[in-house]
Amino acid sequence: MCYPNSYYSGMSNLGFQNLFHRASLFHGLQVHRFFIERDGILHSPDLPGEPGRVLGAYDALFFSLSFELDYIHMLSMLKASNIPMEREERVEGRPLIAAGGVAVTANPGILSSFADILYLGDMECGLEELITIMIESDFRCSVASLRAFAHINGAYVPAVHGMEPVAKATLPAVGEPAHTVVLTGNTEFSNMFLIEIGRGCRNSCSFCMTRCVNRPLRSVDGRVVVEKAERVLAFTRRVGLIAPVLTDHRDLPGIVRQLNGMGMTVSFSSLRADDFNADIAMLLSDNGQKTVTFAPETGSEVLRRNIGKRLQDEALLDAVRTAMGYGIRRFRYYLMIGLPGETSHDIGAIVELVRKTVQLFSPHGAQLMLSINPFVPKMGTGMESARLYPMEYYETVRASLMQDFSGLEGVEYRFESFKKLYLHYYLSIGDDRIGRLLGQCIGEGSLRGFPAAAAGIMGY
Ligand code: SF4
Repeated sequence: MCYPNSYYSGMSNLGFQNLFHRASLFHGLQVHRFFIERDGILHSPDLPGEPGRVLGAYDALFFSLSFELDYIHMLSMLKASNIPMEREERVEGRPLIAAGGVAVTANPGILSSFADILYLGDMECGLEELITIMIESDFRCSVASLRAFAHINGAYVPAVHGMEPVAKATLPAVGEPAHTVVLTGNTEFSNMFLIEIGRGCRNSCSFCMTRCVNRPLRSVDGRVVVEKAERVLAFTRRVGLIAPVLTDHRDLPGIVRQLNGMGMTVSFSSLRADDFNADIAMLLSDNGQKTVTFAPETGSEVLRRNIGKRLQDEALLDAVRTAMGYGIRRFRYYLMIGLPGETSHDIGAIVELVRKTVQLFSPHGAQLMLSINPFVPKMGTGMESARLYPMEYYETVRASLMQDFSGLEGVEYRFESFKKLYLHYYLSIGDDRIGRLLGQCIGEGSLRGFPAAAAGIMGY
């Protein structure tokens, strides 16, 4: 099992933990985890005594990819193990390479020259069948085995299907939720038992890849969540509830109260401001949650409406007020710049929204952290055909916002670096040609020329 990022981030990724868990249940199958660290070195925590073992020694490699920039790390992992990146160049098709996850489901074209199997949608629908066929065919990439893979629900096999991806597989209900199977202190959510309580989202933000890939909304039975948490009581008392939007689960308060009743404290991953109420605020406060995060996305209600986010400023400010009433003093807003149709009025509206928020902080004092990212269109979403602005636009907006925020007490901000913006963009909306270009650049050891070459291929 390969996670194209560090151990620290991989072990907080429920998709990866779920994949590792399900594959490990197979009798007779030896499953090891591999990560690529910042220094480009591969490591496996399952092989402490064998630091030299590389991926080429395995019959099959499974990659779990949530983010487009992880394609770079995936191909770097192959390169570091001397495995030919291009599918057709691997001798006798070994090792077999399968990839899945949110990024792959949204845009399978990018990896279609590299992976033998791209799994689209909910892995639970086809993983067992996939591994069974692998074992039965002795992990050979023969015409017969590829045809057999191609019949599995959600399995896109480029050698059989050509450039036409199959429909994603969708579980009708999430009966067995993804959860932590390896607890570790060396990860973002240190020693916390993470468990999904819902897949999909009932909202319709047109920029959102999660919504497109994970739809429809399916809530996990609260009794299952509580029962799973009960089993880890001897190891940890910290539980993290995971869902695209936690408040989409009708029984969220009931689940949290039961977990609290067992002596566990709960962390909340994502909340919508317009669902926020005193009941939720009290639960957060009782569980010691210090920070509440909301995602207004942009400052202007009109632009927000245009991107499918139905949130009024007043609802957001009400949510902040309510949380403050329960002693919460730290807030985080996720915002985007560079949305299609954005004007200087919309940028001014961001500042205005921040101003109105900090006015609520007086006289108690509180802190607002702004996380500001450039908008990147995602394949499969309603905004996939949007374009980026020239780099100067982002730099000008950043400078102007920094100036406007500088006089506001209690406001901190973090702009995502623009360094990889165009790289990210072409990996998000590109096709197999962009994938091959990426492979070529990684093979040559430099991504410097990638954006310009990608622009030449795509024609924009
Ligand atoms: S609420 Fe969040 S998860 Fe749901 S569609 Fe909007 S951005 Fe996506």
